[in-house]
Amino acid sequence: MNQDLANKFENYILCARSIVVCVHKSPDPDAVGSLVAMQRFYDNHFAKKHDAEIHYIIPDELPDHLQWMIEGERDKYLIDDDFQKGGERIFNDAELIVCMDLADSARIAMYGPLFDKSDAVKVNIDHHPQICDDFDFVVRDMSVSSTSELLFTLLSLISVDSIDSCIANALYAGILGDTGSFSYSCDKPSTYYVVAELLTLGAEVEKIHELLFNNYPYARTQLLGYVLDKKLKLVKVNNEMVSYYTLSVSELEEYHYKPGYLENVINYALNIKGVKVAASFVQRNNNLIRISLRSKGKIRINEFASNYFNGGGHPNASGATVYDKSLEECVDIYLKNIQEVF
Ligand code: 5GP
Ligand code: MN
Repeated sequence: MNQDLANKFENYILCARSIVVCVHKSPDPDAVGSLVAMQRFYDNHFAKKHDAEIHYIIPDELPDHLQWMIEGERDKYLIDDDFQKGGERIFNDAELIVCMDLADSARIAMYGPLFDKSDAVKVNIDHHPQICDDFDFVVRDMSVSSTSELLFTLLSLISVDSIDSCIANALYAGILGDTGSFSYSCDKPSTYYVVAELLTLGAEVEKIHELLFNNYPYARTQLLGYVLDKKLKLVKVNNEMVSYYTLSVSELEEYHYKPGYLENVINYALNIKGVKVAASFVQRNNNLIRISLRSKGKIRINEFASNYFNGGGHPNASGATVYDKSLEECVDIYLKNIQEVF
């Protein structure tokens, strides 16, 4: 990251009359934090010198436990079904599309096909390995903890004075989420310099921790109990221990599942002594299974996610969506092939 890159990004914004900024489906704190930060930064910094139509898109439901991030500001975002209520037209009309925290148009769900055929200038701000090469301008750093960390550096090079305490809170939430509360992807001093600056700018670290990690609905805790007691399996593959669990639609219904209930649950499958790789297979409806994969240390799981499930992600944290397989078939593929990563 350098001043030249920040100036170029600023120019892309200033040259466009209609802009959409979007993040990925299954939104997490990093995606929402980056989007909230961008929205407020535009208002604080750009709005006074630039008159553009700008929209902020979350192409999916926002889980209950992240609603606080946009409290009182819901009308500033196009979320999920808003695609039908104008989102589609707005996306089609955009001169500039900024994608954050995603490297693949499939991750913007229903907006993906519109992105692929759009003539807009396309900008990417991200920390994932590159997948899509359809971007005109890319701010990518795979060594940072999160898009929120990267965005802080970018925005502070444009105007640190425009970063208020709400932006600091949103970006801090993103860093906290993507590092699992500073337990992974956080071994660089630069992350902590950014965090120190966010604190100086007003980030309320204890409050954000409370909101992200001590705020689960009771039903989610009961679902967690069920997964740990009845569903979590350990299997030895070529002398290495791997873990996994599956959840069917009817099990999710029984526990009154809502989006977000399973966030971080996979960490329990990974944090067992001796387990090197963990996987979860969650059947969201009769033809859609969400897969999460996690690994420890030097074991890379993203190529496995890509090769066997057409997914991807980070070396230690990847995911995929599978449409044409049963839970049993997915588990079978996992157990038969996971030895390749050791
Ligand atoms: P999660 O297991 O939390 O859903 O996803 C972990 C990471 O895997 C995400 O941060 C994202 O980088 C990546 N990921 C999740 N789902 C997909 C997917 O369907 N395709 C790709 N390419 N990456 C994914
Ligand atoms: Mn991220």
